[in-house]
Amino acid sequence: MNPTITEHQSVDYSDDTDKQNNRLLHLEKNILEAVALNKDPQVILDDLCRAAESIVDSSVASIMLFNDSRESLHVRSAPNIPDTIIDQLNGLVPGKFAGSCGNAVYCCEPVYVENTLTDDRWNDLKPFAIENSINACWSHPIKTRDNLVIGSFAISSFESRPPSEFQQRLLSIAANISGIVIQREEQEQALWDLAHRDLVTGIPNRIFLNQRLEHAIDGASRKQTRLALFFIDLDKFKNINDTHGHKTGDQVLIETAKRINTCIRSNDTLSRYGGDEFVLLVENLSESHDVGLVADKILKTLAEPMFINDVKLKVTPSIGISLYPDDGNEAEALVNHADTAMYQAKSNGRNTYMCYEPSLTRAIQHRHKVESELKRALKNNELVLHYQPQCFKHHQQSVSVEALVRWQHPDMGLVYPDYFIQVAEQSGLIKQLGEWVIRMACKQGKQWLDDGITLNKIAINISAMQITRGCYDVIRLALEESGLPPRHLEIEITESSMVQQSSEVIEELQLMQNAGISIALDDFGTGYSSLSQLQLLPINKLKIDRSFVAQIPGKQSNEIITRTIIAMGRSLGLSVLAEGVETTEQVDFLLQEGCDAFQGYLYSKPLSVSDLESKVQAKTLLSYN
Ligand code: C2E
Ligand code: MG
Ligand code: MG
Repeated sequence: MNPTITEHQSVDYSDDTDKQNNRLLHLEKNILEAVALNKDPQVILDDLCRAAESIVDSSVASIMLFNDSRESLHVRSAPNIPDTIIDQLNGLVPGKFAGSCGNAVYCCEPVYVENTLTDDRWNDLKPFAIENSINACWSHPIKTRDNLVIGSFAISSFESRPPSEFQQRLLSIAANISGIVIQREEQEQALWDLAHRDLVTGIPNRIFLNQRLEHAIDGASRKQTRLALFFIDLDKFKNINDTHGHKTGDQVLIETAKRINTCIRSNDTLSRYGGDEFVLLVENLSESHDVGLVADKILKTLAEPMFINDVKLKVTPSIGISLYPDDGNEAEALVNHADTAMYQAKSNGRNTYMCYEPSLTRAIQHRHKVESELKRALKNNELVLHYQPQCFKHHQQSVSVEALVRWQHPDMGLVYPDYFIQVAEQSGLIKQLGEWVIRMACKQGKQWLDDGITLNKIAINISAMQITRGCYDVIRLALEESGLPPRHLEIEITESSMVQQSSEVIEELQLMQNAGISIALDDFGTGYSSLSQLQLLPINKLKIDRSFVAQIPGKQSNEIITRTIIAMGRSLGLSVLAEGVETTEQVDFLLQEGCDAFQGYLYSKPLSVSDLESKVQAKTLLSYN
């Protein structure tokens, strides 16, 4: 056990100078030993005060330090001064009349007031001196190695008296030691901060969060309380860095941390977990505590635009939430589950939150499985295109088809796109898959032309995320390589993906249209685009979604929607095709309303190349007049 400073008083000290010197040396040695042994700085400073008090009878010792802004002093250690008195001292502004400590700090030199009631330097604190029977007070400034005053060490005496030479030396040594202890503490804090705080935002980093989380889980398991973990990821943050530079990106992170901190309690921990990821730990969750409200608050505060270097920026987060003990007992599981829920929030359209559910893990596992199998499929050429014929009122002699991708799975047989297109989009594999489809369809189209089939158009589906800069080049190359004239190619993009599209996408589509490729808006009616939006898009055709075609004639709302879409298409000079046509009643209704074309099981299911070729040759595709 480390001895406390006051325990060393068993030595027999008399009053002669040697003995006094010995006493000071002892004090110094013991304190420095405690510093070397890494004892808690607060304990060392308290012990130092007690040791001084034991040397000067009828006194109390105190250490005051500057606040961060160096405007006022607050009590750092005063083990024998009651809290109520400490409260009165805190906030003391240094000055000529601010008592011994206020003066010592103000003048940067020791101040020995032997009578507080008569000395001007105590003018501002006279009532305080009287109330607490402080009759003398000696204070010594505490300085750093660079001679900067950071506070004071003081002995307040209940008797009016000057300090002896020995007592002056005691003050000087105590102030010196206090400086060493405090500076060392600051250095350690700085080192700790370096390892535990994020350099950009100043908030805790991943290491700190993980420690806090482990600790919080221990506490919650003992106290049987709950806690919540929020995984907060900024949406498309990379765009901000790419467009405005990393400095602006850093400012966005700082502002984000600041704003989220306003939504949480003081004992919650917000950390920067990685690039644009923040993890928030909320402890002591009560039954009534609604994590959804916290998430809503965060969404709301971040929804306000940020102004950084006069640039207006919008930042939205996707938030995933996991709970202890509901969603896991260990830190790693809680972080992973919050992360999983965050991904779900992203899939749900971003700028939203999701609470973890076990089914999400299953969905993720499924996604991983499909993703790795799909990679193999692309490598092993397991994908095939089927073609669904389309029937045009005015081109009944020529063949138009939509290419639909299928997966000839080694175990599962023929697999439909619903099973893998979304995974391909989420994983980025859609680019590779899409390029394969484009090349394959162009090659097939050219083959049919060469075989003498009167091909009108071959349509291919393109995912919104495939249309980035350079997309047209991929198509142009496929056309060139295959020799298929562009007028035979049609690109289908879903209406919903076009509603929020950027100018970049529109420019790419414009390039395609200029080259003679036609553009169709797929699944039309589900994406809520307005007439004015449609006018701005380079499109040639609307494909009415099959959910509207499904119950016509009969279901009035579907009849109205279908009729309106056809009228809209006509007024914009676009051709209109109805998807999912399964009955002759549907055809009659659609023809009467002025629809130009149909696609659906009534006319033909999607067919393999050979099946389609036989039907074309046998002329067994239906026709309508
Ligand atoms: P889509 O582009 O709207 O394609 C039409 C879907 O409706 C096809 O499903 C087709 O088989 C089905 N269908 C056609 N006629 C009828 C009908 O009369 N009744 C019913 N109930 N269904 C009909 P499929 O082949 O399963 O494709 C589903 C979706 O997958 C497509 O919807 C398209 O969005 C996507 N997709 C297919 N191939 C590709 C591709 O190569 N690339 C991309 N990015 N997406 C593709
Ligand atoms: Mg389509
Ligand atoms: Mg469709």
